[in-house]
Amino acid sequence: MDEITNVRNILFSRLEELEDKRLILKSPELRGLYNKISSLPSEKRGEFGKKINELKNELEQRISSDSYDGHSKKPIDVTAPFDENIEPDLRPGLLSSERGSAHPLSTELDKILGIFQKMGFEVVLSRQLDDDYHMFESLNFPKGHPARDDYDTFVTDEGLLPPAQTSTMQNRVLRSKKHLLKEGEPFGVVIPGRVFRNEDTDARHEHTFHQIEGLYVGENITVGNLLATFKEFLSEYFGKEVDVRVNPFYFPFVEPGFEFALSCPFCEKQGCKICSYEGWIELMGCGLVHPEVLKMADIDEKKYSGFAWGFGLERLVMMKHNIEDIRHFFSGNLDFLKQFGSGK
Ligand SMILES: [Zn+2]
Repeated sequence: MDEITNVRNILFSRLEELEDKRLILKSPELRGLYNKISSLPSEKRGEFGKKINELKNELEQRISSDSYDGHSKKPIDVTAPFDENIEPDLRPGLLSSERGSAHPLSTELDKILGIFQKMGFEVVLSRQLDDDYHMFESLNFPKGHPARDDYDTFVTDEGLLPPAQTSTMQNRVLRSKKHLLKEGEPFGVVIPGRVFRNEDTDARHEHTFHQIEGLYVGENITVGNLLATFKEFLSEYFGKEVDVRVNPFYFPFVEPGFEFALSCPFCEKQGCKICSYEGWIELMGCGLVHPEVLKMADIDEKKYSGFAWGFGLERLVMMKHNIEDIRHFFSGNLDFLKQFGSGK
């Protein structure tokens, strides 16, 4: 038996016992073979080296197939079509009635972000754990501010907060984009994110849901700009003209602040079940960015102004598809989810 075959047998039997199988590539036996190359007569070095490399490749292939599946010795072809490595019975298409589909919230989120992107907004993602500064202070809720109590947030042992709203991203976005203002460019972003509230759940309330924040800053930005922008979005999303209505409302990070309603897209303000026979549907809070919030991001609040909104993704999707209970979304109920299978 030649030396390489001998080492091969040793290494393959040891491989079975090793927890971290990659260690086999650093074994003294393998290194010994490489070291031996230089002591061979020059005409034999090439073939010897080639055989060691073959052994090493063989070992690597075994390691990668073992790490995929302890029972399978078949190497994975990472360049193959995506379903090539799946057992034939499980391949999508063979059992088309059981094929999965995008969750309705994902489908609708894509549509919504697509509309805002066409309108010139950039998409920035929110985060699922944040701190007191971004959740409160930077949004003009100083420590001890009574409005903090309106946000019944969760807190981790370390004092971090799963965000109760996507506005926690405002300070970061303002800081990272403010250089554009100096160049005379306004900027707009939409920020989708998961938010968390210490909430008793019912048909209208979930402890975990999604918001989409909008933030636009430039010179001479007015409430008129806010309303025109959001009206344009809603008309595109519902595929028909909607009217909008605002009532004054207090949020610490906007001035003036509003509660925003749209005319019911299903009954043309005549009143129907979806709008509780009011003709209008409350959708979100919005307003002009509070000067203190701009100052917190070192933006000159006398020169620049902006608008912001935060609306609930679930609420908008429920309205569009006449879904009566927000808890359906995370219920895992396939009868509910299958209604959206075609991605409508
Ligand atoms: Zn209606």
